[in-house]
Amino acid sequence: MNNRVHQGHFARKRFGQNFLNDPYIIDSIVSAIHPQPGEAVVEIGPGLGALTEPVGERLERMTVIELDRDLAARLQTHPFLGPKLTIFQQDAMTFDFAAYAREQGQALRVFGNLPYNISTPLMFHLFSYTDAIRDMHFMLQKEVVNRLVAGPGSKAYGRLSVMAQYYCQIIPVLEVPPASFTPAPKVDSAVVRLVPYASLPYPVEDIRTLSRITTEAFGKRRKTLRNSLGHLFTTEVLEEMNIDPILRAENISVAQYCQLANWLTAHPQPQEN
Ligand code: SAM
Repeated sequence: MNNRVHQGHFARKRFGQNFLNDPYIIDSIVSAIHPQPGEAVVEIGPGLGALTEPVGERLERMTVIELDRDLAARLQTHPFLGPKLTIFQQDAMTFDFAAYAREQGQALRVFGNLPYNISTPLMFHLFSYTDAIRDMHFMLQKEVVNRLVAGPGSKAYGRLSVMAQYYCQIIPVLEVPPASFTPAPKVDSAVVRLVPYASLPYPVEDIRTLSRITTEAFGKRRKTLRNSLGHLFTTEVLEEMNIDPILRAENISVAQYCQLANWLTAHPQPQEN
């Protein structure tokens, strides 16, 4: 039997299609999401409906965003889900979650077994809409979940950890082995819950500055801050902020990155030519 065919659909690699086939895992994910009637629930990449069916059973209506035209068409004609679904056949990377939350009159609950090839850029896209999102539940590569929750001093701690933890409280929910999918991916997976903070613990004046500092620091993660960020902060300025200049990018907390960002916003650098 061709292991790429599931329920009569040939899994498309370019769309990151690995379909969930494990009832226990599916049940656990639906319990973690705990959808309630009246909520504005949006699934990214419903595929063949492994999660859409049990979530949809609990709701009068739900919304899905699916890039694959054949799969979107299949859902449209699904016997019990079809009439409940609002289907956007489009790339979730181009979806305006803020406009949709306004239209729904409430913050969105977003979930999905994400296509692994775009999961990190997709999360960054979603972080720009955290005001419009109540919570998110995602199946990701386990390694990405480790990076999301990592703290300073750990190898997994990086730009994704800082940016995600800036916006959200992050809770790992469940680990999922390759055999729970058809076709089986080569890596372990895990489900994570991200809850955007109603009020940010370390607000920054300009998010682009935080983004720039984390890119530059972690781009040279083996170097000391004096080297990697020396063009932005003098040793004296770092010391004034109680940040030891001989530390590396991975030793600085989210709060300290935010402190650096706010200092830089308040002390703009002369334009480079
Ligand atoms: N939810 C299903 C399941 O758990 O069995 C399918 C998950 S599969 C890992 C990822 C799904 O996302 C596929 O249905 C794929 O077609 C869809 N997809 C891929 N790229 C997408 C994108 N940019 N926007 C929306 N959906 C996408």
